[in-house]
Amino acid sequence: MPVSEFSLIRRFFTQQAVKNPSTRLGIGDDCALVSVPDGYELAVTTDTMVENIHFFAGSDPRQLGHKLLAVNLSDLAAMGARPVSVTLALTLPSVDEDWLTAFSEGFLGLAERYSVDLIGGDTTSGPLTLTVQAMGLVPSGKALRRSSAKPGDFIYLTGALGDAGLGLKIQQGYHCVCPNEALRRFHQPEPRIAEGLALIGIANACIDVSDGLAGDLGHILEQGNVGACLDWETLPLSGAVRAYVNETGDWAMPLTAGDDYELCFTVSPEKAARLTIDCAKIGVIESAPGLRLNKSGVIQSLKSKGYEHFS
Ligand code: ADP
Ligand code: MG
Repeated sequence: MPVSEFSLIRRFFTQQAVKNPSTRLGIGDDCALVSVPDGYELAVTTDTMVENIHFFAGSDPRQLGHKLLAVNLSDLAAMGARPVSVTLALTLPSVDEDWLTAFSEGFLGLAERYSVDLIGGDTTSGPLTLTVQAMGLVPSGKALRRSSAKPGDFIYLTGALGDAGLGLKIQQGYHCVCPNEALRRFHQPEPRIAEGLALIGIANACIDVSDGLAGDLGHILEQGNVGACLDWETLPLSGAVRAYVNETGDWAMPLTAGDDYELCFTVSPEKAARLTIDCAKIGVIESAPGLRLNKSGVIQSLKSKGYEHFS
């Protein structure tokens, strides 16, 4: 039975009650209405996931729904913004009701946990393409920016590095004794919202690691006109990632693989004692440009290029 666009939207995307106090009007009109309280500004971000580019054809729709929202919430986290609402633009090759049920459960399940309202979107037919715009609130003038790292700042990272990259390798056929955590981190990253909020007023610069630490930290370095030295010994690597590095010799993987969605941020030594979140100190900002790695006392240059779509 063909499903019209309207009944599709009603069935799969409007079950959610409005929960966020910023939502003045949700799905159903030409626009949604979002209020911004005095003293706050709206942080807005968009990310698209395209089949065969960002995810494999046939990917689990529940995990896709989760990841699509998570990568957008991660951008809000990186600015220290509290998420309030999202819009969802879906381009679907066909209406597959089982796919839509699972996708919306993954998406709305994560939205629910952060009191994020789905307030609108668009639905079209074409090659499978998933786009979210996410909005969040941040105290005026206090957003965490990429640009303000200072020489002498300590560099920190939440969580662990390289598990999502290992998950991708496993997906591509690499045999791992304990694959579950890496696969979970690859398919269902957790946006570091609480951590981002806790960094307001403490971090000088912040970015979420979506394209690999070397590339993303590279953005902080370029925008701040600074360099950095990372310490290999202090990189937070899970047992599975360590085992991968030992077995393959591919020590660059945790530094260059994407999809970790951890926060990388810099803090001045004076403010370091005020850090309350779980994180590892992985290096120092220096005035000499470029990214370096201290590995067993040998300092080597790292290329800070992440994945680029048109290169
Ligand atoms: P318009 O033609 O005015 O753009 P649409 O028919 O595209 O309206 O959408 C009707 C309503 O449903 C709007 O409020 C729109 O934001 C919402 N909507 C459409 N697609 C989605 C979707 N995939 N997820 C959430 N809301 C959607
Ligand atoms: Mg429309």
